Amino acid sequence: MEEIINQIKRAQHLLLASHCNPDGDAVSSLLAMGLALSKLNKRITLYNASPIPAVYRFLPSVERIVRHIKKTTTYDAVLILDCGHMARVGEAHTKVSQIPVIINIDHHVTNTHFGNIQFIDPDACSTAEIVYRLIKAINAPIDKAIATSIYTGILTDTGSFRFSNTNQAAFAISQEMVRYGVEPYNVAKHVFGTYSLGRIKLLNLALDSIEISDNGKLSVMTLTNAMFAKTKTQPEDVDGMINYARRIEDVKVAALIQEQKNGNANSDESRKFHVSLRSDGSVDVAAIAGSFGGGGHSSAAGFQVEMTMAKLKSEIITLSNDL
Ligand code: 5GP
Ligand code: MN
Repeated sequence: MEEIINQIKRAQHLLLASHCNPDGDAVSSLLAMGLALSKLNKRITLYNASPIPAVYRFLPSVERIVRHIKKTTTYDAVLILDCGHMARVGEAHTKVSQIPVIINIDHHVTNTHFGNIQFIDPDACSTAEIVYRLIKAINAPIDKAIATSIYTGILTDTGSFRFSNTNQAAFAISQEMVRYGVEPYNVAKHVFGTYSLGRIKLLNLALDSIEISDNGKLSVMTLTNAMFAKTKTQPEDVDGMINYARRIEDVKVAALIQEQKNGNANSDESRKFHVSLRSDGSVDVAAIAGSFGGGGHSSAAGFQVEMTMAKLKSEIITLSNDL
């Protein structure tokens, strides 16, 4: 922590980045840390490789997040937030890796400890919790905008205080953020309240795609590019759908197979997929994801693969034999 603070104090221009295809924690950590450093009169650039999902576009200063960065020599240091490994930064990750000081701030148990300095706490409910601790440690003032981001990061990463990562800090920090002016109803309205019709139609297809292993302990949900096209939706619209597959009685592990945008629609050929895994808490899905080259947390993890849909499905269903 001390070393990070020293590096932040020393730096004039800092780049901040979080993982591509960002979730609430990735967007919120980026904004909260960035706005806090701005208050210390630092020059900051906020980078995310992907478009910011519509539900997070209400966050103050979200328009400051850019999708392209300048020459890496411009930056004295980079803070990489919520990324288990360097490549999670997305498109600019090779550029980013040339920045002289790389600071890795994360809560994923599978973090590869990349970079020059690390602040990794798998017991933190979210990266937003770690960002909160850093902001306190550097004595940056917290205002309503920063508080709204920290609150949103905690709210979304704990699944509204329901997931197993929900800890005391989640409640304590959230309460403090409300004292700084956060309006919980307003945040909830944006994050959970408004869905496009397409998203509801996609949910319908997602629910219809659910298959269960013979022993009933594993469920698989499948989303293809054809379904996205039919409902005119984007990958961001998938956020949270896997929880329906996980909530089924007796299911210990749920998998969501999601075809990647540049995939090949021919079902007989190898296609690119992202697989999300969730468990009911009794199974370590980070270990399963790890065996496929991915990672994450013990009850929420993921990996990418390139194979045929049939082979992938059968490999996933086979996992149920060990449950
Ligand atoms: P999701 O399934 O929602 O994409 O991701 C669940 C969790 O697993 C997140 O914490 C995410 O960071 C992690 N995760 C997802 N995909 C990958 C991956 O390909 N590699 C690693 N290391 N972690 C992943
Ligand atoms: Mn997170």
